Amino acid sequence: MELDIIVPAFNEEGNVKNFYNQTKNALKGLKYNFIFIDDGSSDKTLVELEEIYKSDEANVKIISFSRNFGKEAAIYAGLQHSKAKYACIIDADGQQNPKYLLKMHDFLVDNPEYDAVCMCQTQKKKRLLQHMFYKLINKLSDIEIVDGASDFRMFRKSMVAAITKISEKNRFSKGIFSYVGFKTYYDSYDVEDRKSGETKWSKRKLFNYAFDGIVSFSSKPLRASAWTGLFISIIAFIYLVFIIVKTLVTGVDTPGYASLMCVMLFLGGIQLIFLGIIGEYIGKTYNETKNRPVFISKKKLGFDEEIL
Ligand code: UDP
Ligand code: MG
Repeated sequence: MELDIIVPAFNEEGNVKNFYNQTKNALKGLKYNFIFIDDGSSDKTLVELEEIYKSDEANVKIISFSRNFGKEAAIYAGLQHSKAKYACIIDADGQQNPKYLLKMHDFLVDNPEYDAVCMCQTQKKKRLLQHMFYKLINKLSDIEIVDGASDFRMFRKSMVAAITKISEKNRFSKGIFSYVGFKTYYDSYDVEDRKSGETKWSKRKLFNYAFDGIVSFSSKPLRASAWTGLFISIIAFIYLVFIIVKTLVTGVDTPGYASLMCVMLFLGGIQLIFLGIIGEYIGKTYNETKNRPVFISKKKLGFDEEIL
């Protein structure tokens, strides 16, 4: 098989058929499979998908989740089941025009040094918050995410293997795509209007997504607690010296005040420093539990085993 088209669909009953027909027309001449992931839809998405399956059993596959697990889980499931030479991810709502799929595919065929094509949205209006999020995550973490990069991507099989090898449960795909490395070509596309239904992204969901993204790829927030602890203890220590000197110079105003203050500030500072140190260890444990591979190789020559 040449291409697997992975399509996460959550409550897209009004879109899947149009999407299927449009994509089929756009891909004439290519051998492809559709892998639809019904992400626990509560409408008739699955019924529609089953009809598509019945009409084209050879080229359509469906995975239906027991409940809504989210787009990230759907992407993972699709990639895990992909066996084709190339795999792409595309939304079911018609916002990402399938005409780009051929372009992406041809690019990867013509340019063997590239392993993936990522489509970036050409922004109609500058979204300040989104822009800030990319700035922040690129600053805080070791990975680099291009501003505006979407999940509309095509990968070579070796990269799909690397992505599915990352088995962490809390998945932030854009980070994982960047983390696994490989050479990605960035192209741009015009986002179209949603054909039917509405977006699944509320403000709160977007915020959680952004927060998850930062926490998945950076333990710097934990380190910040150590620095805050140190900063507060230094200030506490200066204040402590000030109280001791003041008591020595002007005498005792309230008996016990100076000594109590000293003990409190000192212990408070020590506690914060140790909390920070514990934070460092939690950070390390957190990284270990994610069980990411220490390295990912792209190709091996002269060995019998598969790569990875
Ligand atoms: N989607 C999904 N599970 C979810 C939310 C969304 O599979 O929990 C799918 C959705 O059906 C669509 C794609 O992910 O095919 C993108 O979702 P949406 O259009 O809501 O996002 P937007 O385009 O507004 O960023
Ligand atoms: Mg959409």
